[in-house]
Amino acid sequence: MTDVQTEQLAALLGSDRVSRDPDALAAHSYDAWPVAVKWRRQNKAPLQPEAIVTPASVDDVSRLLAWASANKVPITPWGAGSAVTGAPLAARGGVSLDLGGLDKTIALNRINHTVRVEAGKMGHDLEAELYAAGLTLNHSPQSLGRSTVGGWLATRATGQFSSRWGSIENLCVSFTVVLSDGRIVEMPDTPRGATGPDLRHLFIGSEGTMGVIVDVTMRVFELTEQQLYETVVFDCLDDGIDAARCIMQRGLRPFVLRLYDEDEAPHAMKDASSRQPVLFLGCEGTSAMAATEMSACLELCSAANGTPAGGAAVEAWMARRFDFSAVENVLDRSGGFAETIEITSGWDRVGQLHRDMKAALAPLADEVLGHFSHAYTHGTSLYLILIGACEDDDAAEQRLLEIWDVAMEQCLAGGAAISHHHGIGYARRQYLKPYLGEVHDLLCNVRSAVDPAGIMNPGKFV
Ligand SMILES: Cc1cc2nc3c(=O)[nH]c(=O)nc-3n(C[C@H](O)[C@H](O)[C@H](O)COP(=O)(O)OP(=O)(O)OC[C@H]3O[C@@H](n4cnc5c(N)ncnc54)[C@H](O)[C@@H]3O)c2cc1C
Repeated sequence: MTDVQTEQLAALLGSDRVSRDPDALAAHSYDAWPVAVKWRRQNKAPLQPEAIVTPASVDDVSRLLAWASANKVPITPWGAGSAVTGAPLAARGGVSLDLGGLDKTIALNRINHTVRVEAGKMGHDLEAELYAAGLTLNHSPQSLGRSTVGGWLATRATGQFSSRWGSIENLCVSFTVVLSDGRIVEMPDTPRGATGPDLRHLFIGSEGTMGVIVDVTMRVFELTEQQLYETVVFDCLDDGIDAARCIMQRGLRPFVLRLYDEDEAPHAMKDASSRQPVLFLGCEGTSAMAATEMSACLELCSAANGTPAGGAAVEAWMARRFDFSAVENVLDRSGGFAETIEITSGWDRVGQLHRDMKAALAPLADEVLGHFSHAYTHGTSLYLILIGACEDDDAAEQRLLEIWDVAMEQCLAGGAAISHHHGIGYARRQYLKPYLGEVHDLLCNVRSAVDPAGIMNPGKFV
C-alpha cells in the first residue's frame, strides 16, 4: 500500500480507524498456528499486513471493501486471531480488517430462541450473557474464550458437544455479509426454505475469501436439567470405535462422546497408569432422558467389551476443557514443537487411518496422541496431537512443516477429509486442490464471480 492509499483510507473512515503502527502490524502477523508461533519467537513476519483497519460500523466495512476493490488492495478479515492454520494472516499484504470492535448483541428473540450479534462478539462474552438468561449456544469450541462468532462461521467451526448439537452450520440461522464491492447482503432467517440453493454455505467456511460477515443470528437453547457422565475402558481401540459407532447409529446423542487412544488416555485420565483406550460419555436433558440415554449407551459399550469406570474423569475434563496450556507451554520453549491435526473419515476406514497416520508421524515427534471427538452416524473426526523438541526454533518450524506434509499425504492416500474443523488457511493451502479435484475449479469460478477483483484474503485456498 502506498502512503497516498493510506491517506485515502484515513479520509474515508477516519484516521483513528486506520493504523500502520508497528506494534499493531506485529499483533496481526501471528495467529495460533504453531508455525506462526515459531515465527514470532524468531522475530520473523513473512505474512504481515501493511495497515490495520478497525471499523466502527457495517457501513465502514462496506466503504472499505468498495474502495479496496477499486484499488486492488487485499483485505484479510481478522476476528480474534485464534485460527491454528495461518488463515487470518495477510499473505499478500494490504489491510488486516479487525472486526473486534463490532461486538454488540443486537437482539435476543425469546420466542424463536435466537440471538443476533455483531460478528466480532467474543464467544465467552456471548455465552455469559446467555447463561444469565438461562440459555446457552451449545457451541463450545475449546477456544470459546479467544474466538469470535464471525470467526466461527468463517472457519466452519465445531464445538465439544457437536455429537448432540451439531456444528456451526447447524447452530447458525442467518447472517449479514458485505461483498467485496461493498454490497450488504442479508441472508434469509427462516428455519428452512426450498428457494434454490442455500447460499449461506458459500460463506460458512469461506475463511474470509468470499466476503466479510458482519452480524450473525445463532440458535439458543435452554440450559438442561441434568448432565450425567461415565468413562468406559476398552482392551483395544477398535472395540471403542465400534461402541461409538453403534451409539450414533442407534440414534443416541450423548453431548460428550470422546474416545482416546492408549497414548492419549493417560493425559485424558490424568493418570499415567491408564494405558487403555477410554471413552468419555456425557448425556443430558431432563433427568429421565439423561438416565435412559446413558443406560442405553452403556449397554452398547458393554456389548463392545467396554468396562464402565465411573464419571469422575469426565467431570474433571468438563472443568478444564478450555485449557490448552499443555500445547502452549511446549511451543513457548526454544525448539519445542506441538501441532494438532484434525481430519475425518467414514467408520469403515477410520481405525486403519488412525494406525497409518500414527505410524507415519511417529518418527517425527516424541509423542503422537489420538482421539475421536465429533461423531456422526456415518463417520467421525480423528484428532492427532504431536509433541516434541528440536535444537532450536528454526528446526522446530521446519519439523512442523514436515509434519504437515506427511499428515496431509497420509490423508489423501487414506481417502480422509484433510480438515474436520480447523480449516485450510495457509497450512493446508496446497493440499486443497488435490483433495477437492474438479470441485476446486468450481470453487475458483464461484470465487471469481463473488470477488472479481480478487481482494478477499488472497494467497490462501483459492
Ligand atoms: C486453544 C485453541 C483451541 C481451539 N479449539 C477449537 C475448537 O474446539 N473448534 C474449532 O472449530 N476451532 C478451534 N480452534 C481454532 C479457532 O479458534 C477457530 O478456527 C475459530 O473459529 C477462529 O475464530 P477467530 O474469531 O479467532 O477467527 P480468526 O482466527 O481471526 O480468523 C479465522 C479465519 O476467518 C476469517 N474471518 C474471521 N472473522 C471473519 C468475518 N467476520 N468475516 C469473514 N471472515 C472472517 C479470517 O480471515 C480467517 O481466514 C482452536 C484454536 C485454539 C488456539
